[in-house]
Amino acid sequence: MAKKLNGFCDTIAAVATAAGRGGIGVVRISGAALAELAEALCGKRAQPLQPRLASLVKFRGADGQPLDQGLLLYFPAPHSFTGEDVLELHGHGGPVVLQLLLQRCLELGARLAAPGEFTRRAYLNGKLDLAQAEAVADLIDASTAQAARSALRSLSGEFSLAVHGLVEHLVELRMLVEATLDFPDEEIDANGILRDQHAASRLERMRDDLAGLRARARQGSLLRSGLQVVLAGAPNVGKSSLLNRLAGEERAIVTDIAGTTRDAVRETIQIEGIPLHIIDTAGLRETGDSVEKLGIERSWREIERADMVLQMVDAATGMTSADETIAARLPLGVERLIVHNKCDLAGLAAGRREEGGRVHVYLSALTGAGIDLLHDELLRVAGWQGHGEDAILARERHLQALDVAGRHLDQAVTELERSELCAEELRLAQEALSTITGEFTADDLLGEIFSRFCIGK
Ligand code: GDP
Repeated sequence: MAKKLNGFCDTIAAVATAAGRGGIGVVRISGAALAELAEALCGKRAQPLQPRLASLVKFRGADGQPLDQGLLLYFPAPHSFTGEDVLELHGHGGPVVLQLLLQRCLELGARLAAPGEFTRRAYLNGKLDLAQAEAVADLIDASTAQAARSALRSLSGEFSLAVHGLVEHLVELRMLVEATLDFPDEEIDANGILRDQHAASRLERMRDDLAGLRARARQGSLLRSGLQVVLAGAPNVGKSSLLNRLAGEERAIVTDIAGTTRDAVRETIQIEGIPLHIIDTAGLRETGDSVEKLGIERSWREIERADMVLQMVDAATGMTSADETIAARLPLGVERLIVHNKCDLAGLAAGRREEGGRVHVYLSALTGAGIDLLHDELLRVAGWQGHGEDAILARERHLQALDVAGRHLDQAVTELERSELCAEELRLAQEALSTITGEFTADDLLGEIFSRFCIGK
């Protein structure tokens, strides 16, 4: 099962717990012959180090003086996260003490791990496939409980299993189709054989299975990335009130999602577990302050990528010239929803209407009337089908691979009469699916995937 590690395994070390202060902090080390390193670090022990058993030790510096006291855990290869010897030093969780422990490990011959290197080694040693390795990062970065649950499903192999199931069926069909290529036309009736073996209906079933998997992956991708929603509106139309109302009890657990720096005009909330990254255009004003200008430019760039604009107007006044100015700058082609707020003040009933090709929602951020309609609209635009229980936390590259496989299967159906072309389409579909689990993945893609991990993962 081990892949391409080729015996290379220098020793790597990193602080595995998050930066900052905590009760405990963990330094993780992976490599070969780590029992010796442990001995050098903690002193010779009366009994040899017991695998997977915590021992209370003193971690010592080069001069023999204690650096910290804590637990030492030893996972000999191959029964460890990386598949190599792994040591975990559980020390006190302060940045200085953890740096001292890490420094000592480096003195003893380890080198600082690169981002994602532990997980990369786990992948290369066949402990995880690529989809599972990616799920490690996605579980850590999950911003809602549903996203975490579906990342865990991928990590425990549910996604990979579904992909393997499809690949198995593909391989069977390929074998059948390719077998018909080995004989000259006059010797066998290739189409007759394929008919007898129900090739068409097997192909059809595979397409159905693939479509089901794509739907689950799309839902999972929503849970992972959520929607970028812009709140556009003049001061006092009720943007903050709406944001608070939407957030309610459902504020996302993690507000600082990897790769997206939170700033003053950005807030992440969740609806049914889907993270909604809300950008408040209140921050978008003319300013002489160069730092603020930079922030505003960044907001505009995010707005360009938004999935949806909630254009808020005061239900009593309707669209004002200030609203028009903001509206004029909003990107075309982005789904736009007009929210008429304060309908309690205007004496209007909450409701949803379609006018001028746009959806209008009448609501009151103050009383909460009509908020359920806004929820429904947001979920509709997101494409959420309410299948959180079996969503698979997928990344864009997984969706693309499933789409490519789907196109090749569609093509295979049309080529069923021409075995050679059909076989090639099936081969390409299999290749696309195999990139998901990493059986067929270019090295530079691996580099890119793991470099996005943090150090210590
Ligand atoms: P923002 O400047 O757009 O963020 O607006 P705020 O959320 O700060 O709201 C401005 C004022 O309008 C506040 O006094 C709110 O209490 C009030 N307000 C907001 N939404 C409603 C609403 O639905 N009904 C009523 N009656 N007042 C509201």
